[in-house]
Amino acid sequence: MRKKIVAGNWKMNKTFQEGVDLAIELNKVVVEKGAKDVTVVVSPPFTHIAEVNKVVDNDRISVAGQNCATETSGAYTGEISAEMLWSSGANYVILGHSERRTYYGETNELLNTKVKKALEFNLIPIYCVGEVLEEREAGKHFDVIKEQIETVLFDLEIADFEKVVVAYEPVWAIGTGKTASSDQAQEVHKFIRTLLADKFGAAADNTSILYGGSCNPKNANELFSNADVDGGLIGGASLKAEDFIQIINAY
Ligand code: PEP
Repeated sequence: MRKKIVAGNWKMNKTFQEGVDLAIELNKVVVEKGAKDVTVVVSPPFTHIAEVNKVVDNDRISVAGQNCATETSGAYTGEISAEMLWSSGANYVILGHSERRTYYGETNELLNTKVKKALEFNLIPIYCVGEVLEEREAGKHFDVIKEQIETVLFDLEIADFEKVVVAYEPVWAIGTGKTASSDQAQEVHKFIRTLLADKFGAAADNTSILYGGSCNPKNANELFSNADVDGGLIGGASLKAEDFIQIINAY
């Protein structure tokens, strides 16, 4: 069955103690009033993962890394491996976020390696795709997304593909306050599901495809009510427990 997922991406925000405090506060509201059929994920900075994982109820909140290395281990100063994330308590990892693609030059080919490495170490990849504004304005967004999906996911074994979560994040909507319209989101989500179904068959029916890009308590319900939108990847609004819980409960 397709899972409903709301995942918070904290990015490079919160000191260690602020992050732990947010996790404690969020855990309280999720346990008290969070919709039980929604899988809640938080993605703190690497340094906070083990402690955040300790302070939340693991039956209600899962923890994600925001990136992982292409290599398993070794002389790669500054890198964090998939196995390190897993051994710190993470069950998910965000891969291909537009900020990683833009600021750190992550390509589809590199992300294909990262997705496979994450799966090898039992992490569920939340694989992000999405077009920049010029690509949308030029009507190229479907081509861009097709390439992002095909290059990164199409050579996975079906058993691995079944674990992957996809997030559609139009880059022009991330952190800008501009959200894709409900119709725009559904159109792209359906396009992604059809692409996946052409390759992986019925398994694509069970793939959770999340929307990300200025999702907030006001617009979440409309976005999530689309047939192919299975939740959200939330940046700014995941940094306040009260906003995040409203998004979790927006279905
Ligand atoms: C994100 O960075 O994944 C994101 C969706 O950010 P925001 O919600 O702040 O647009």
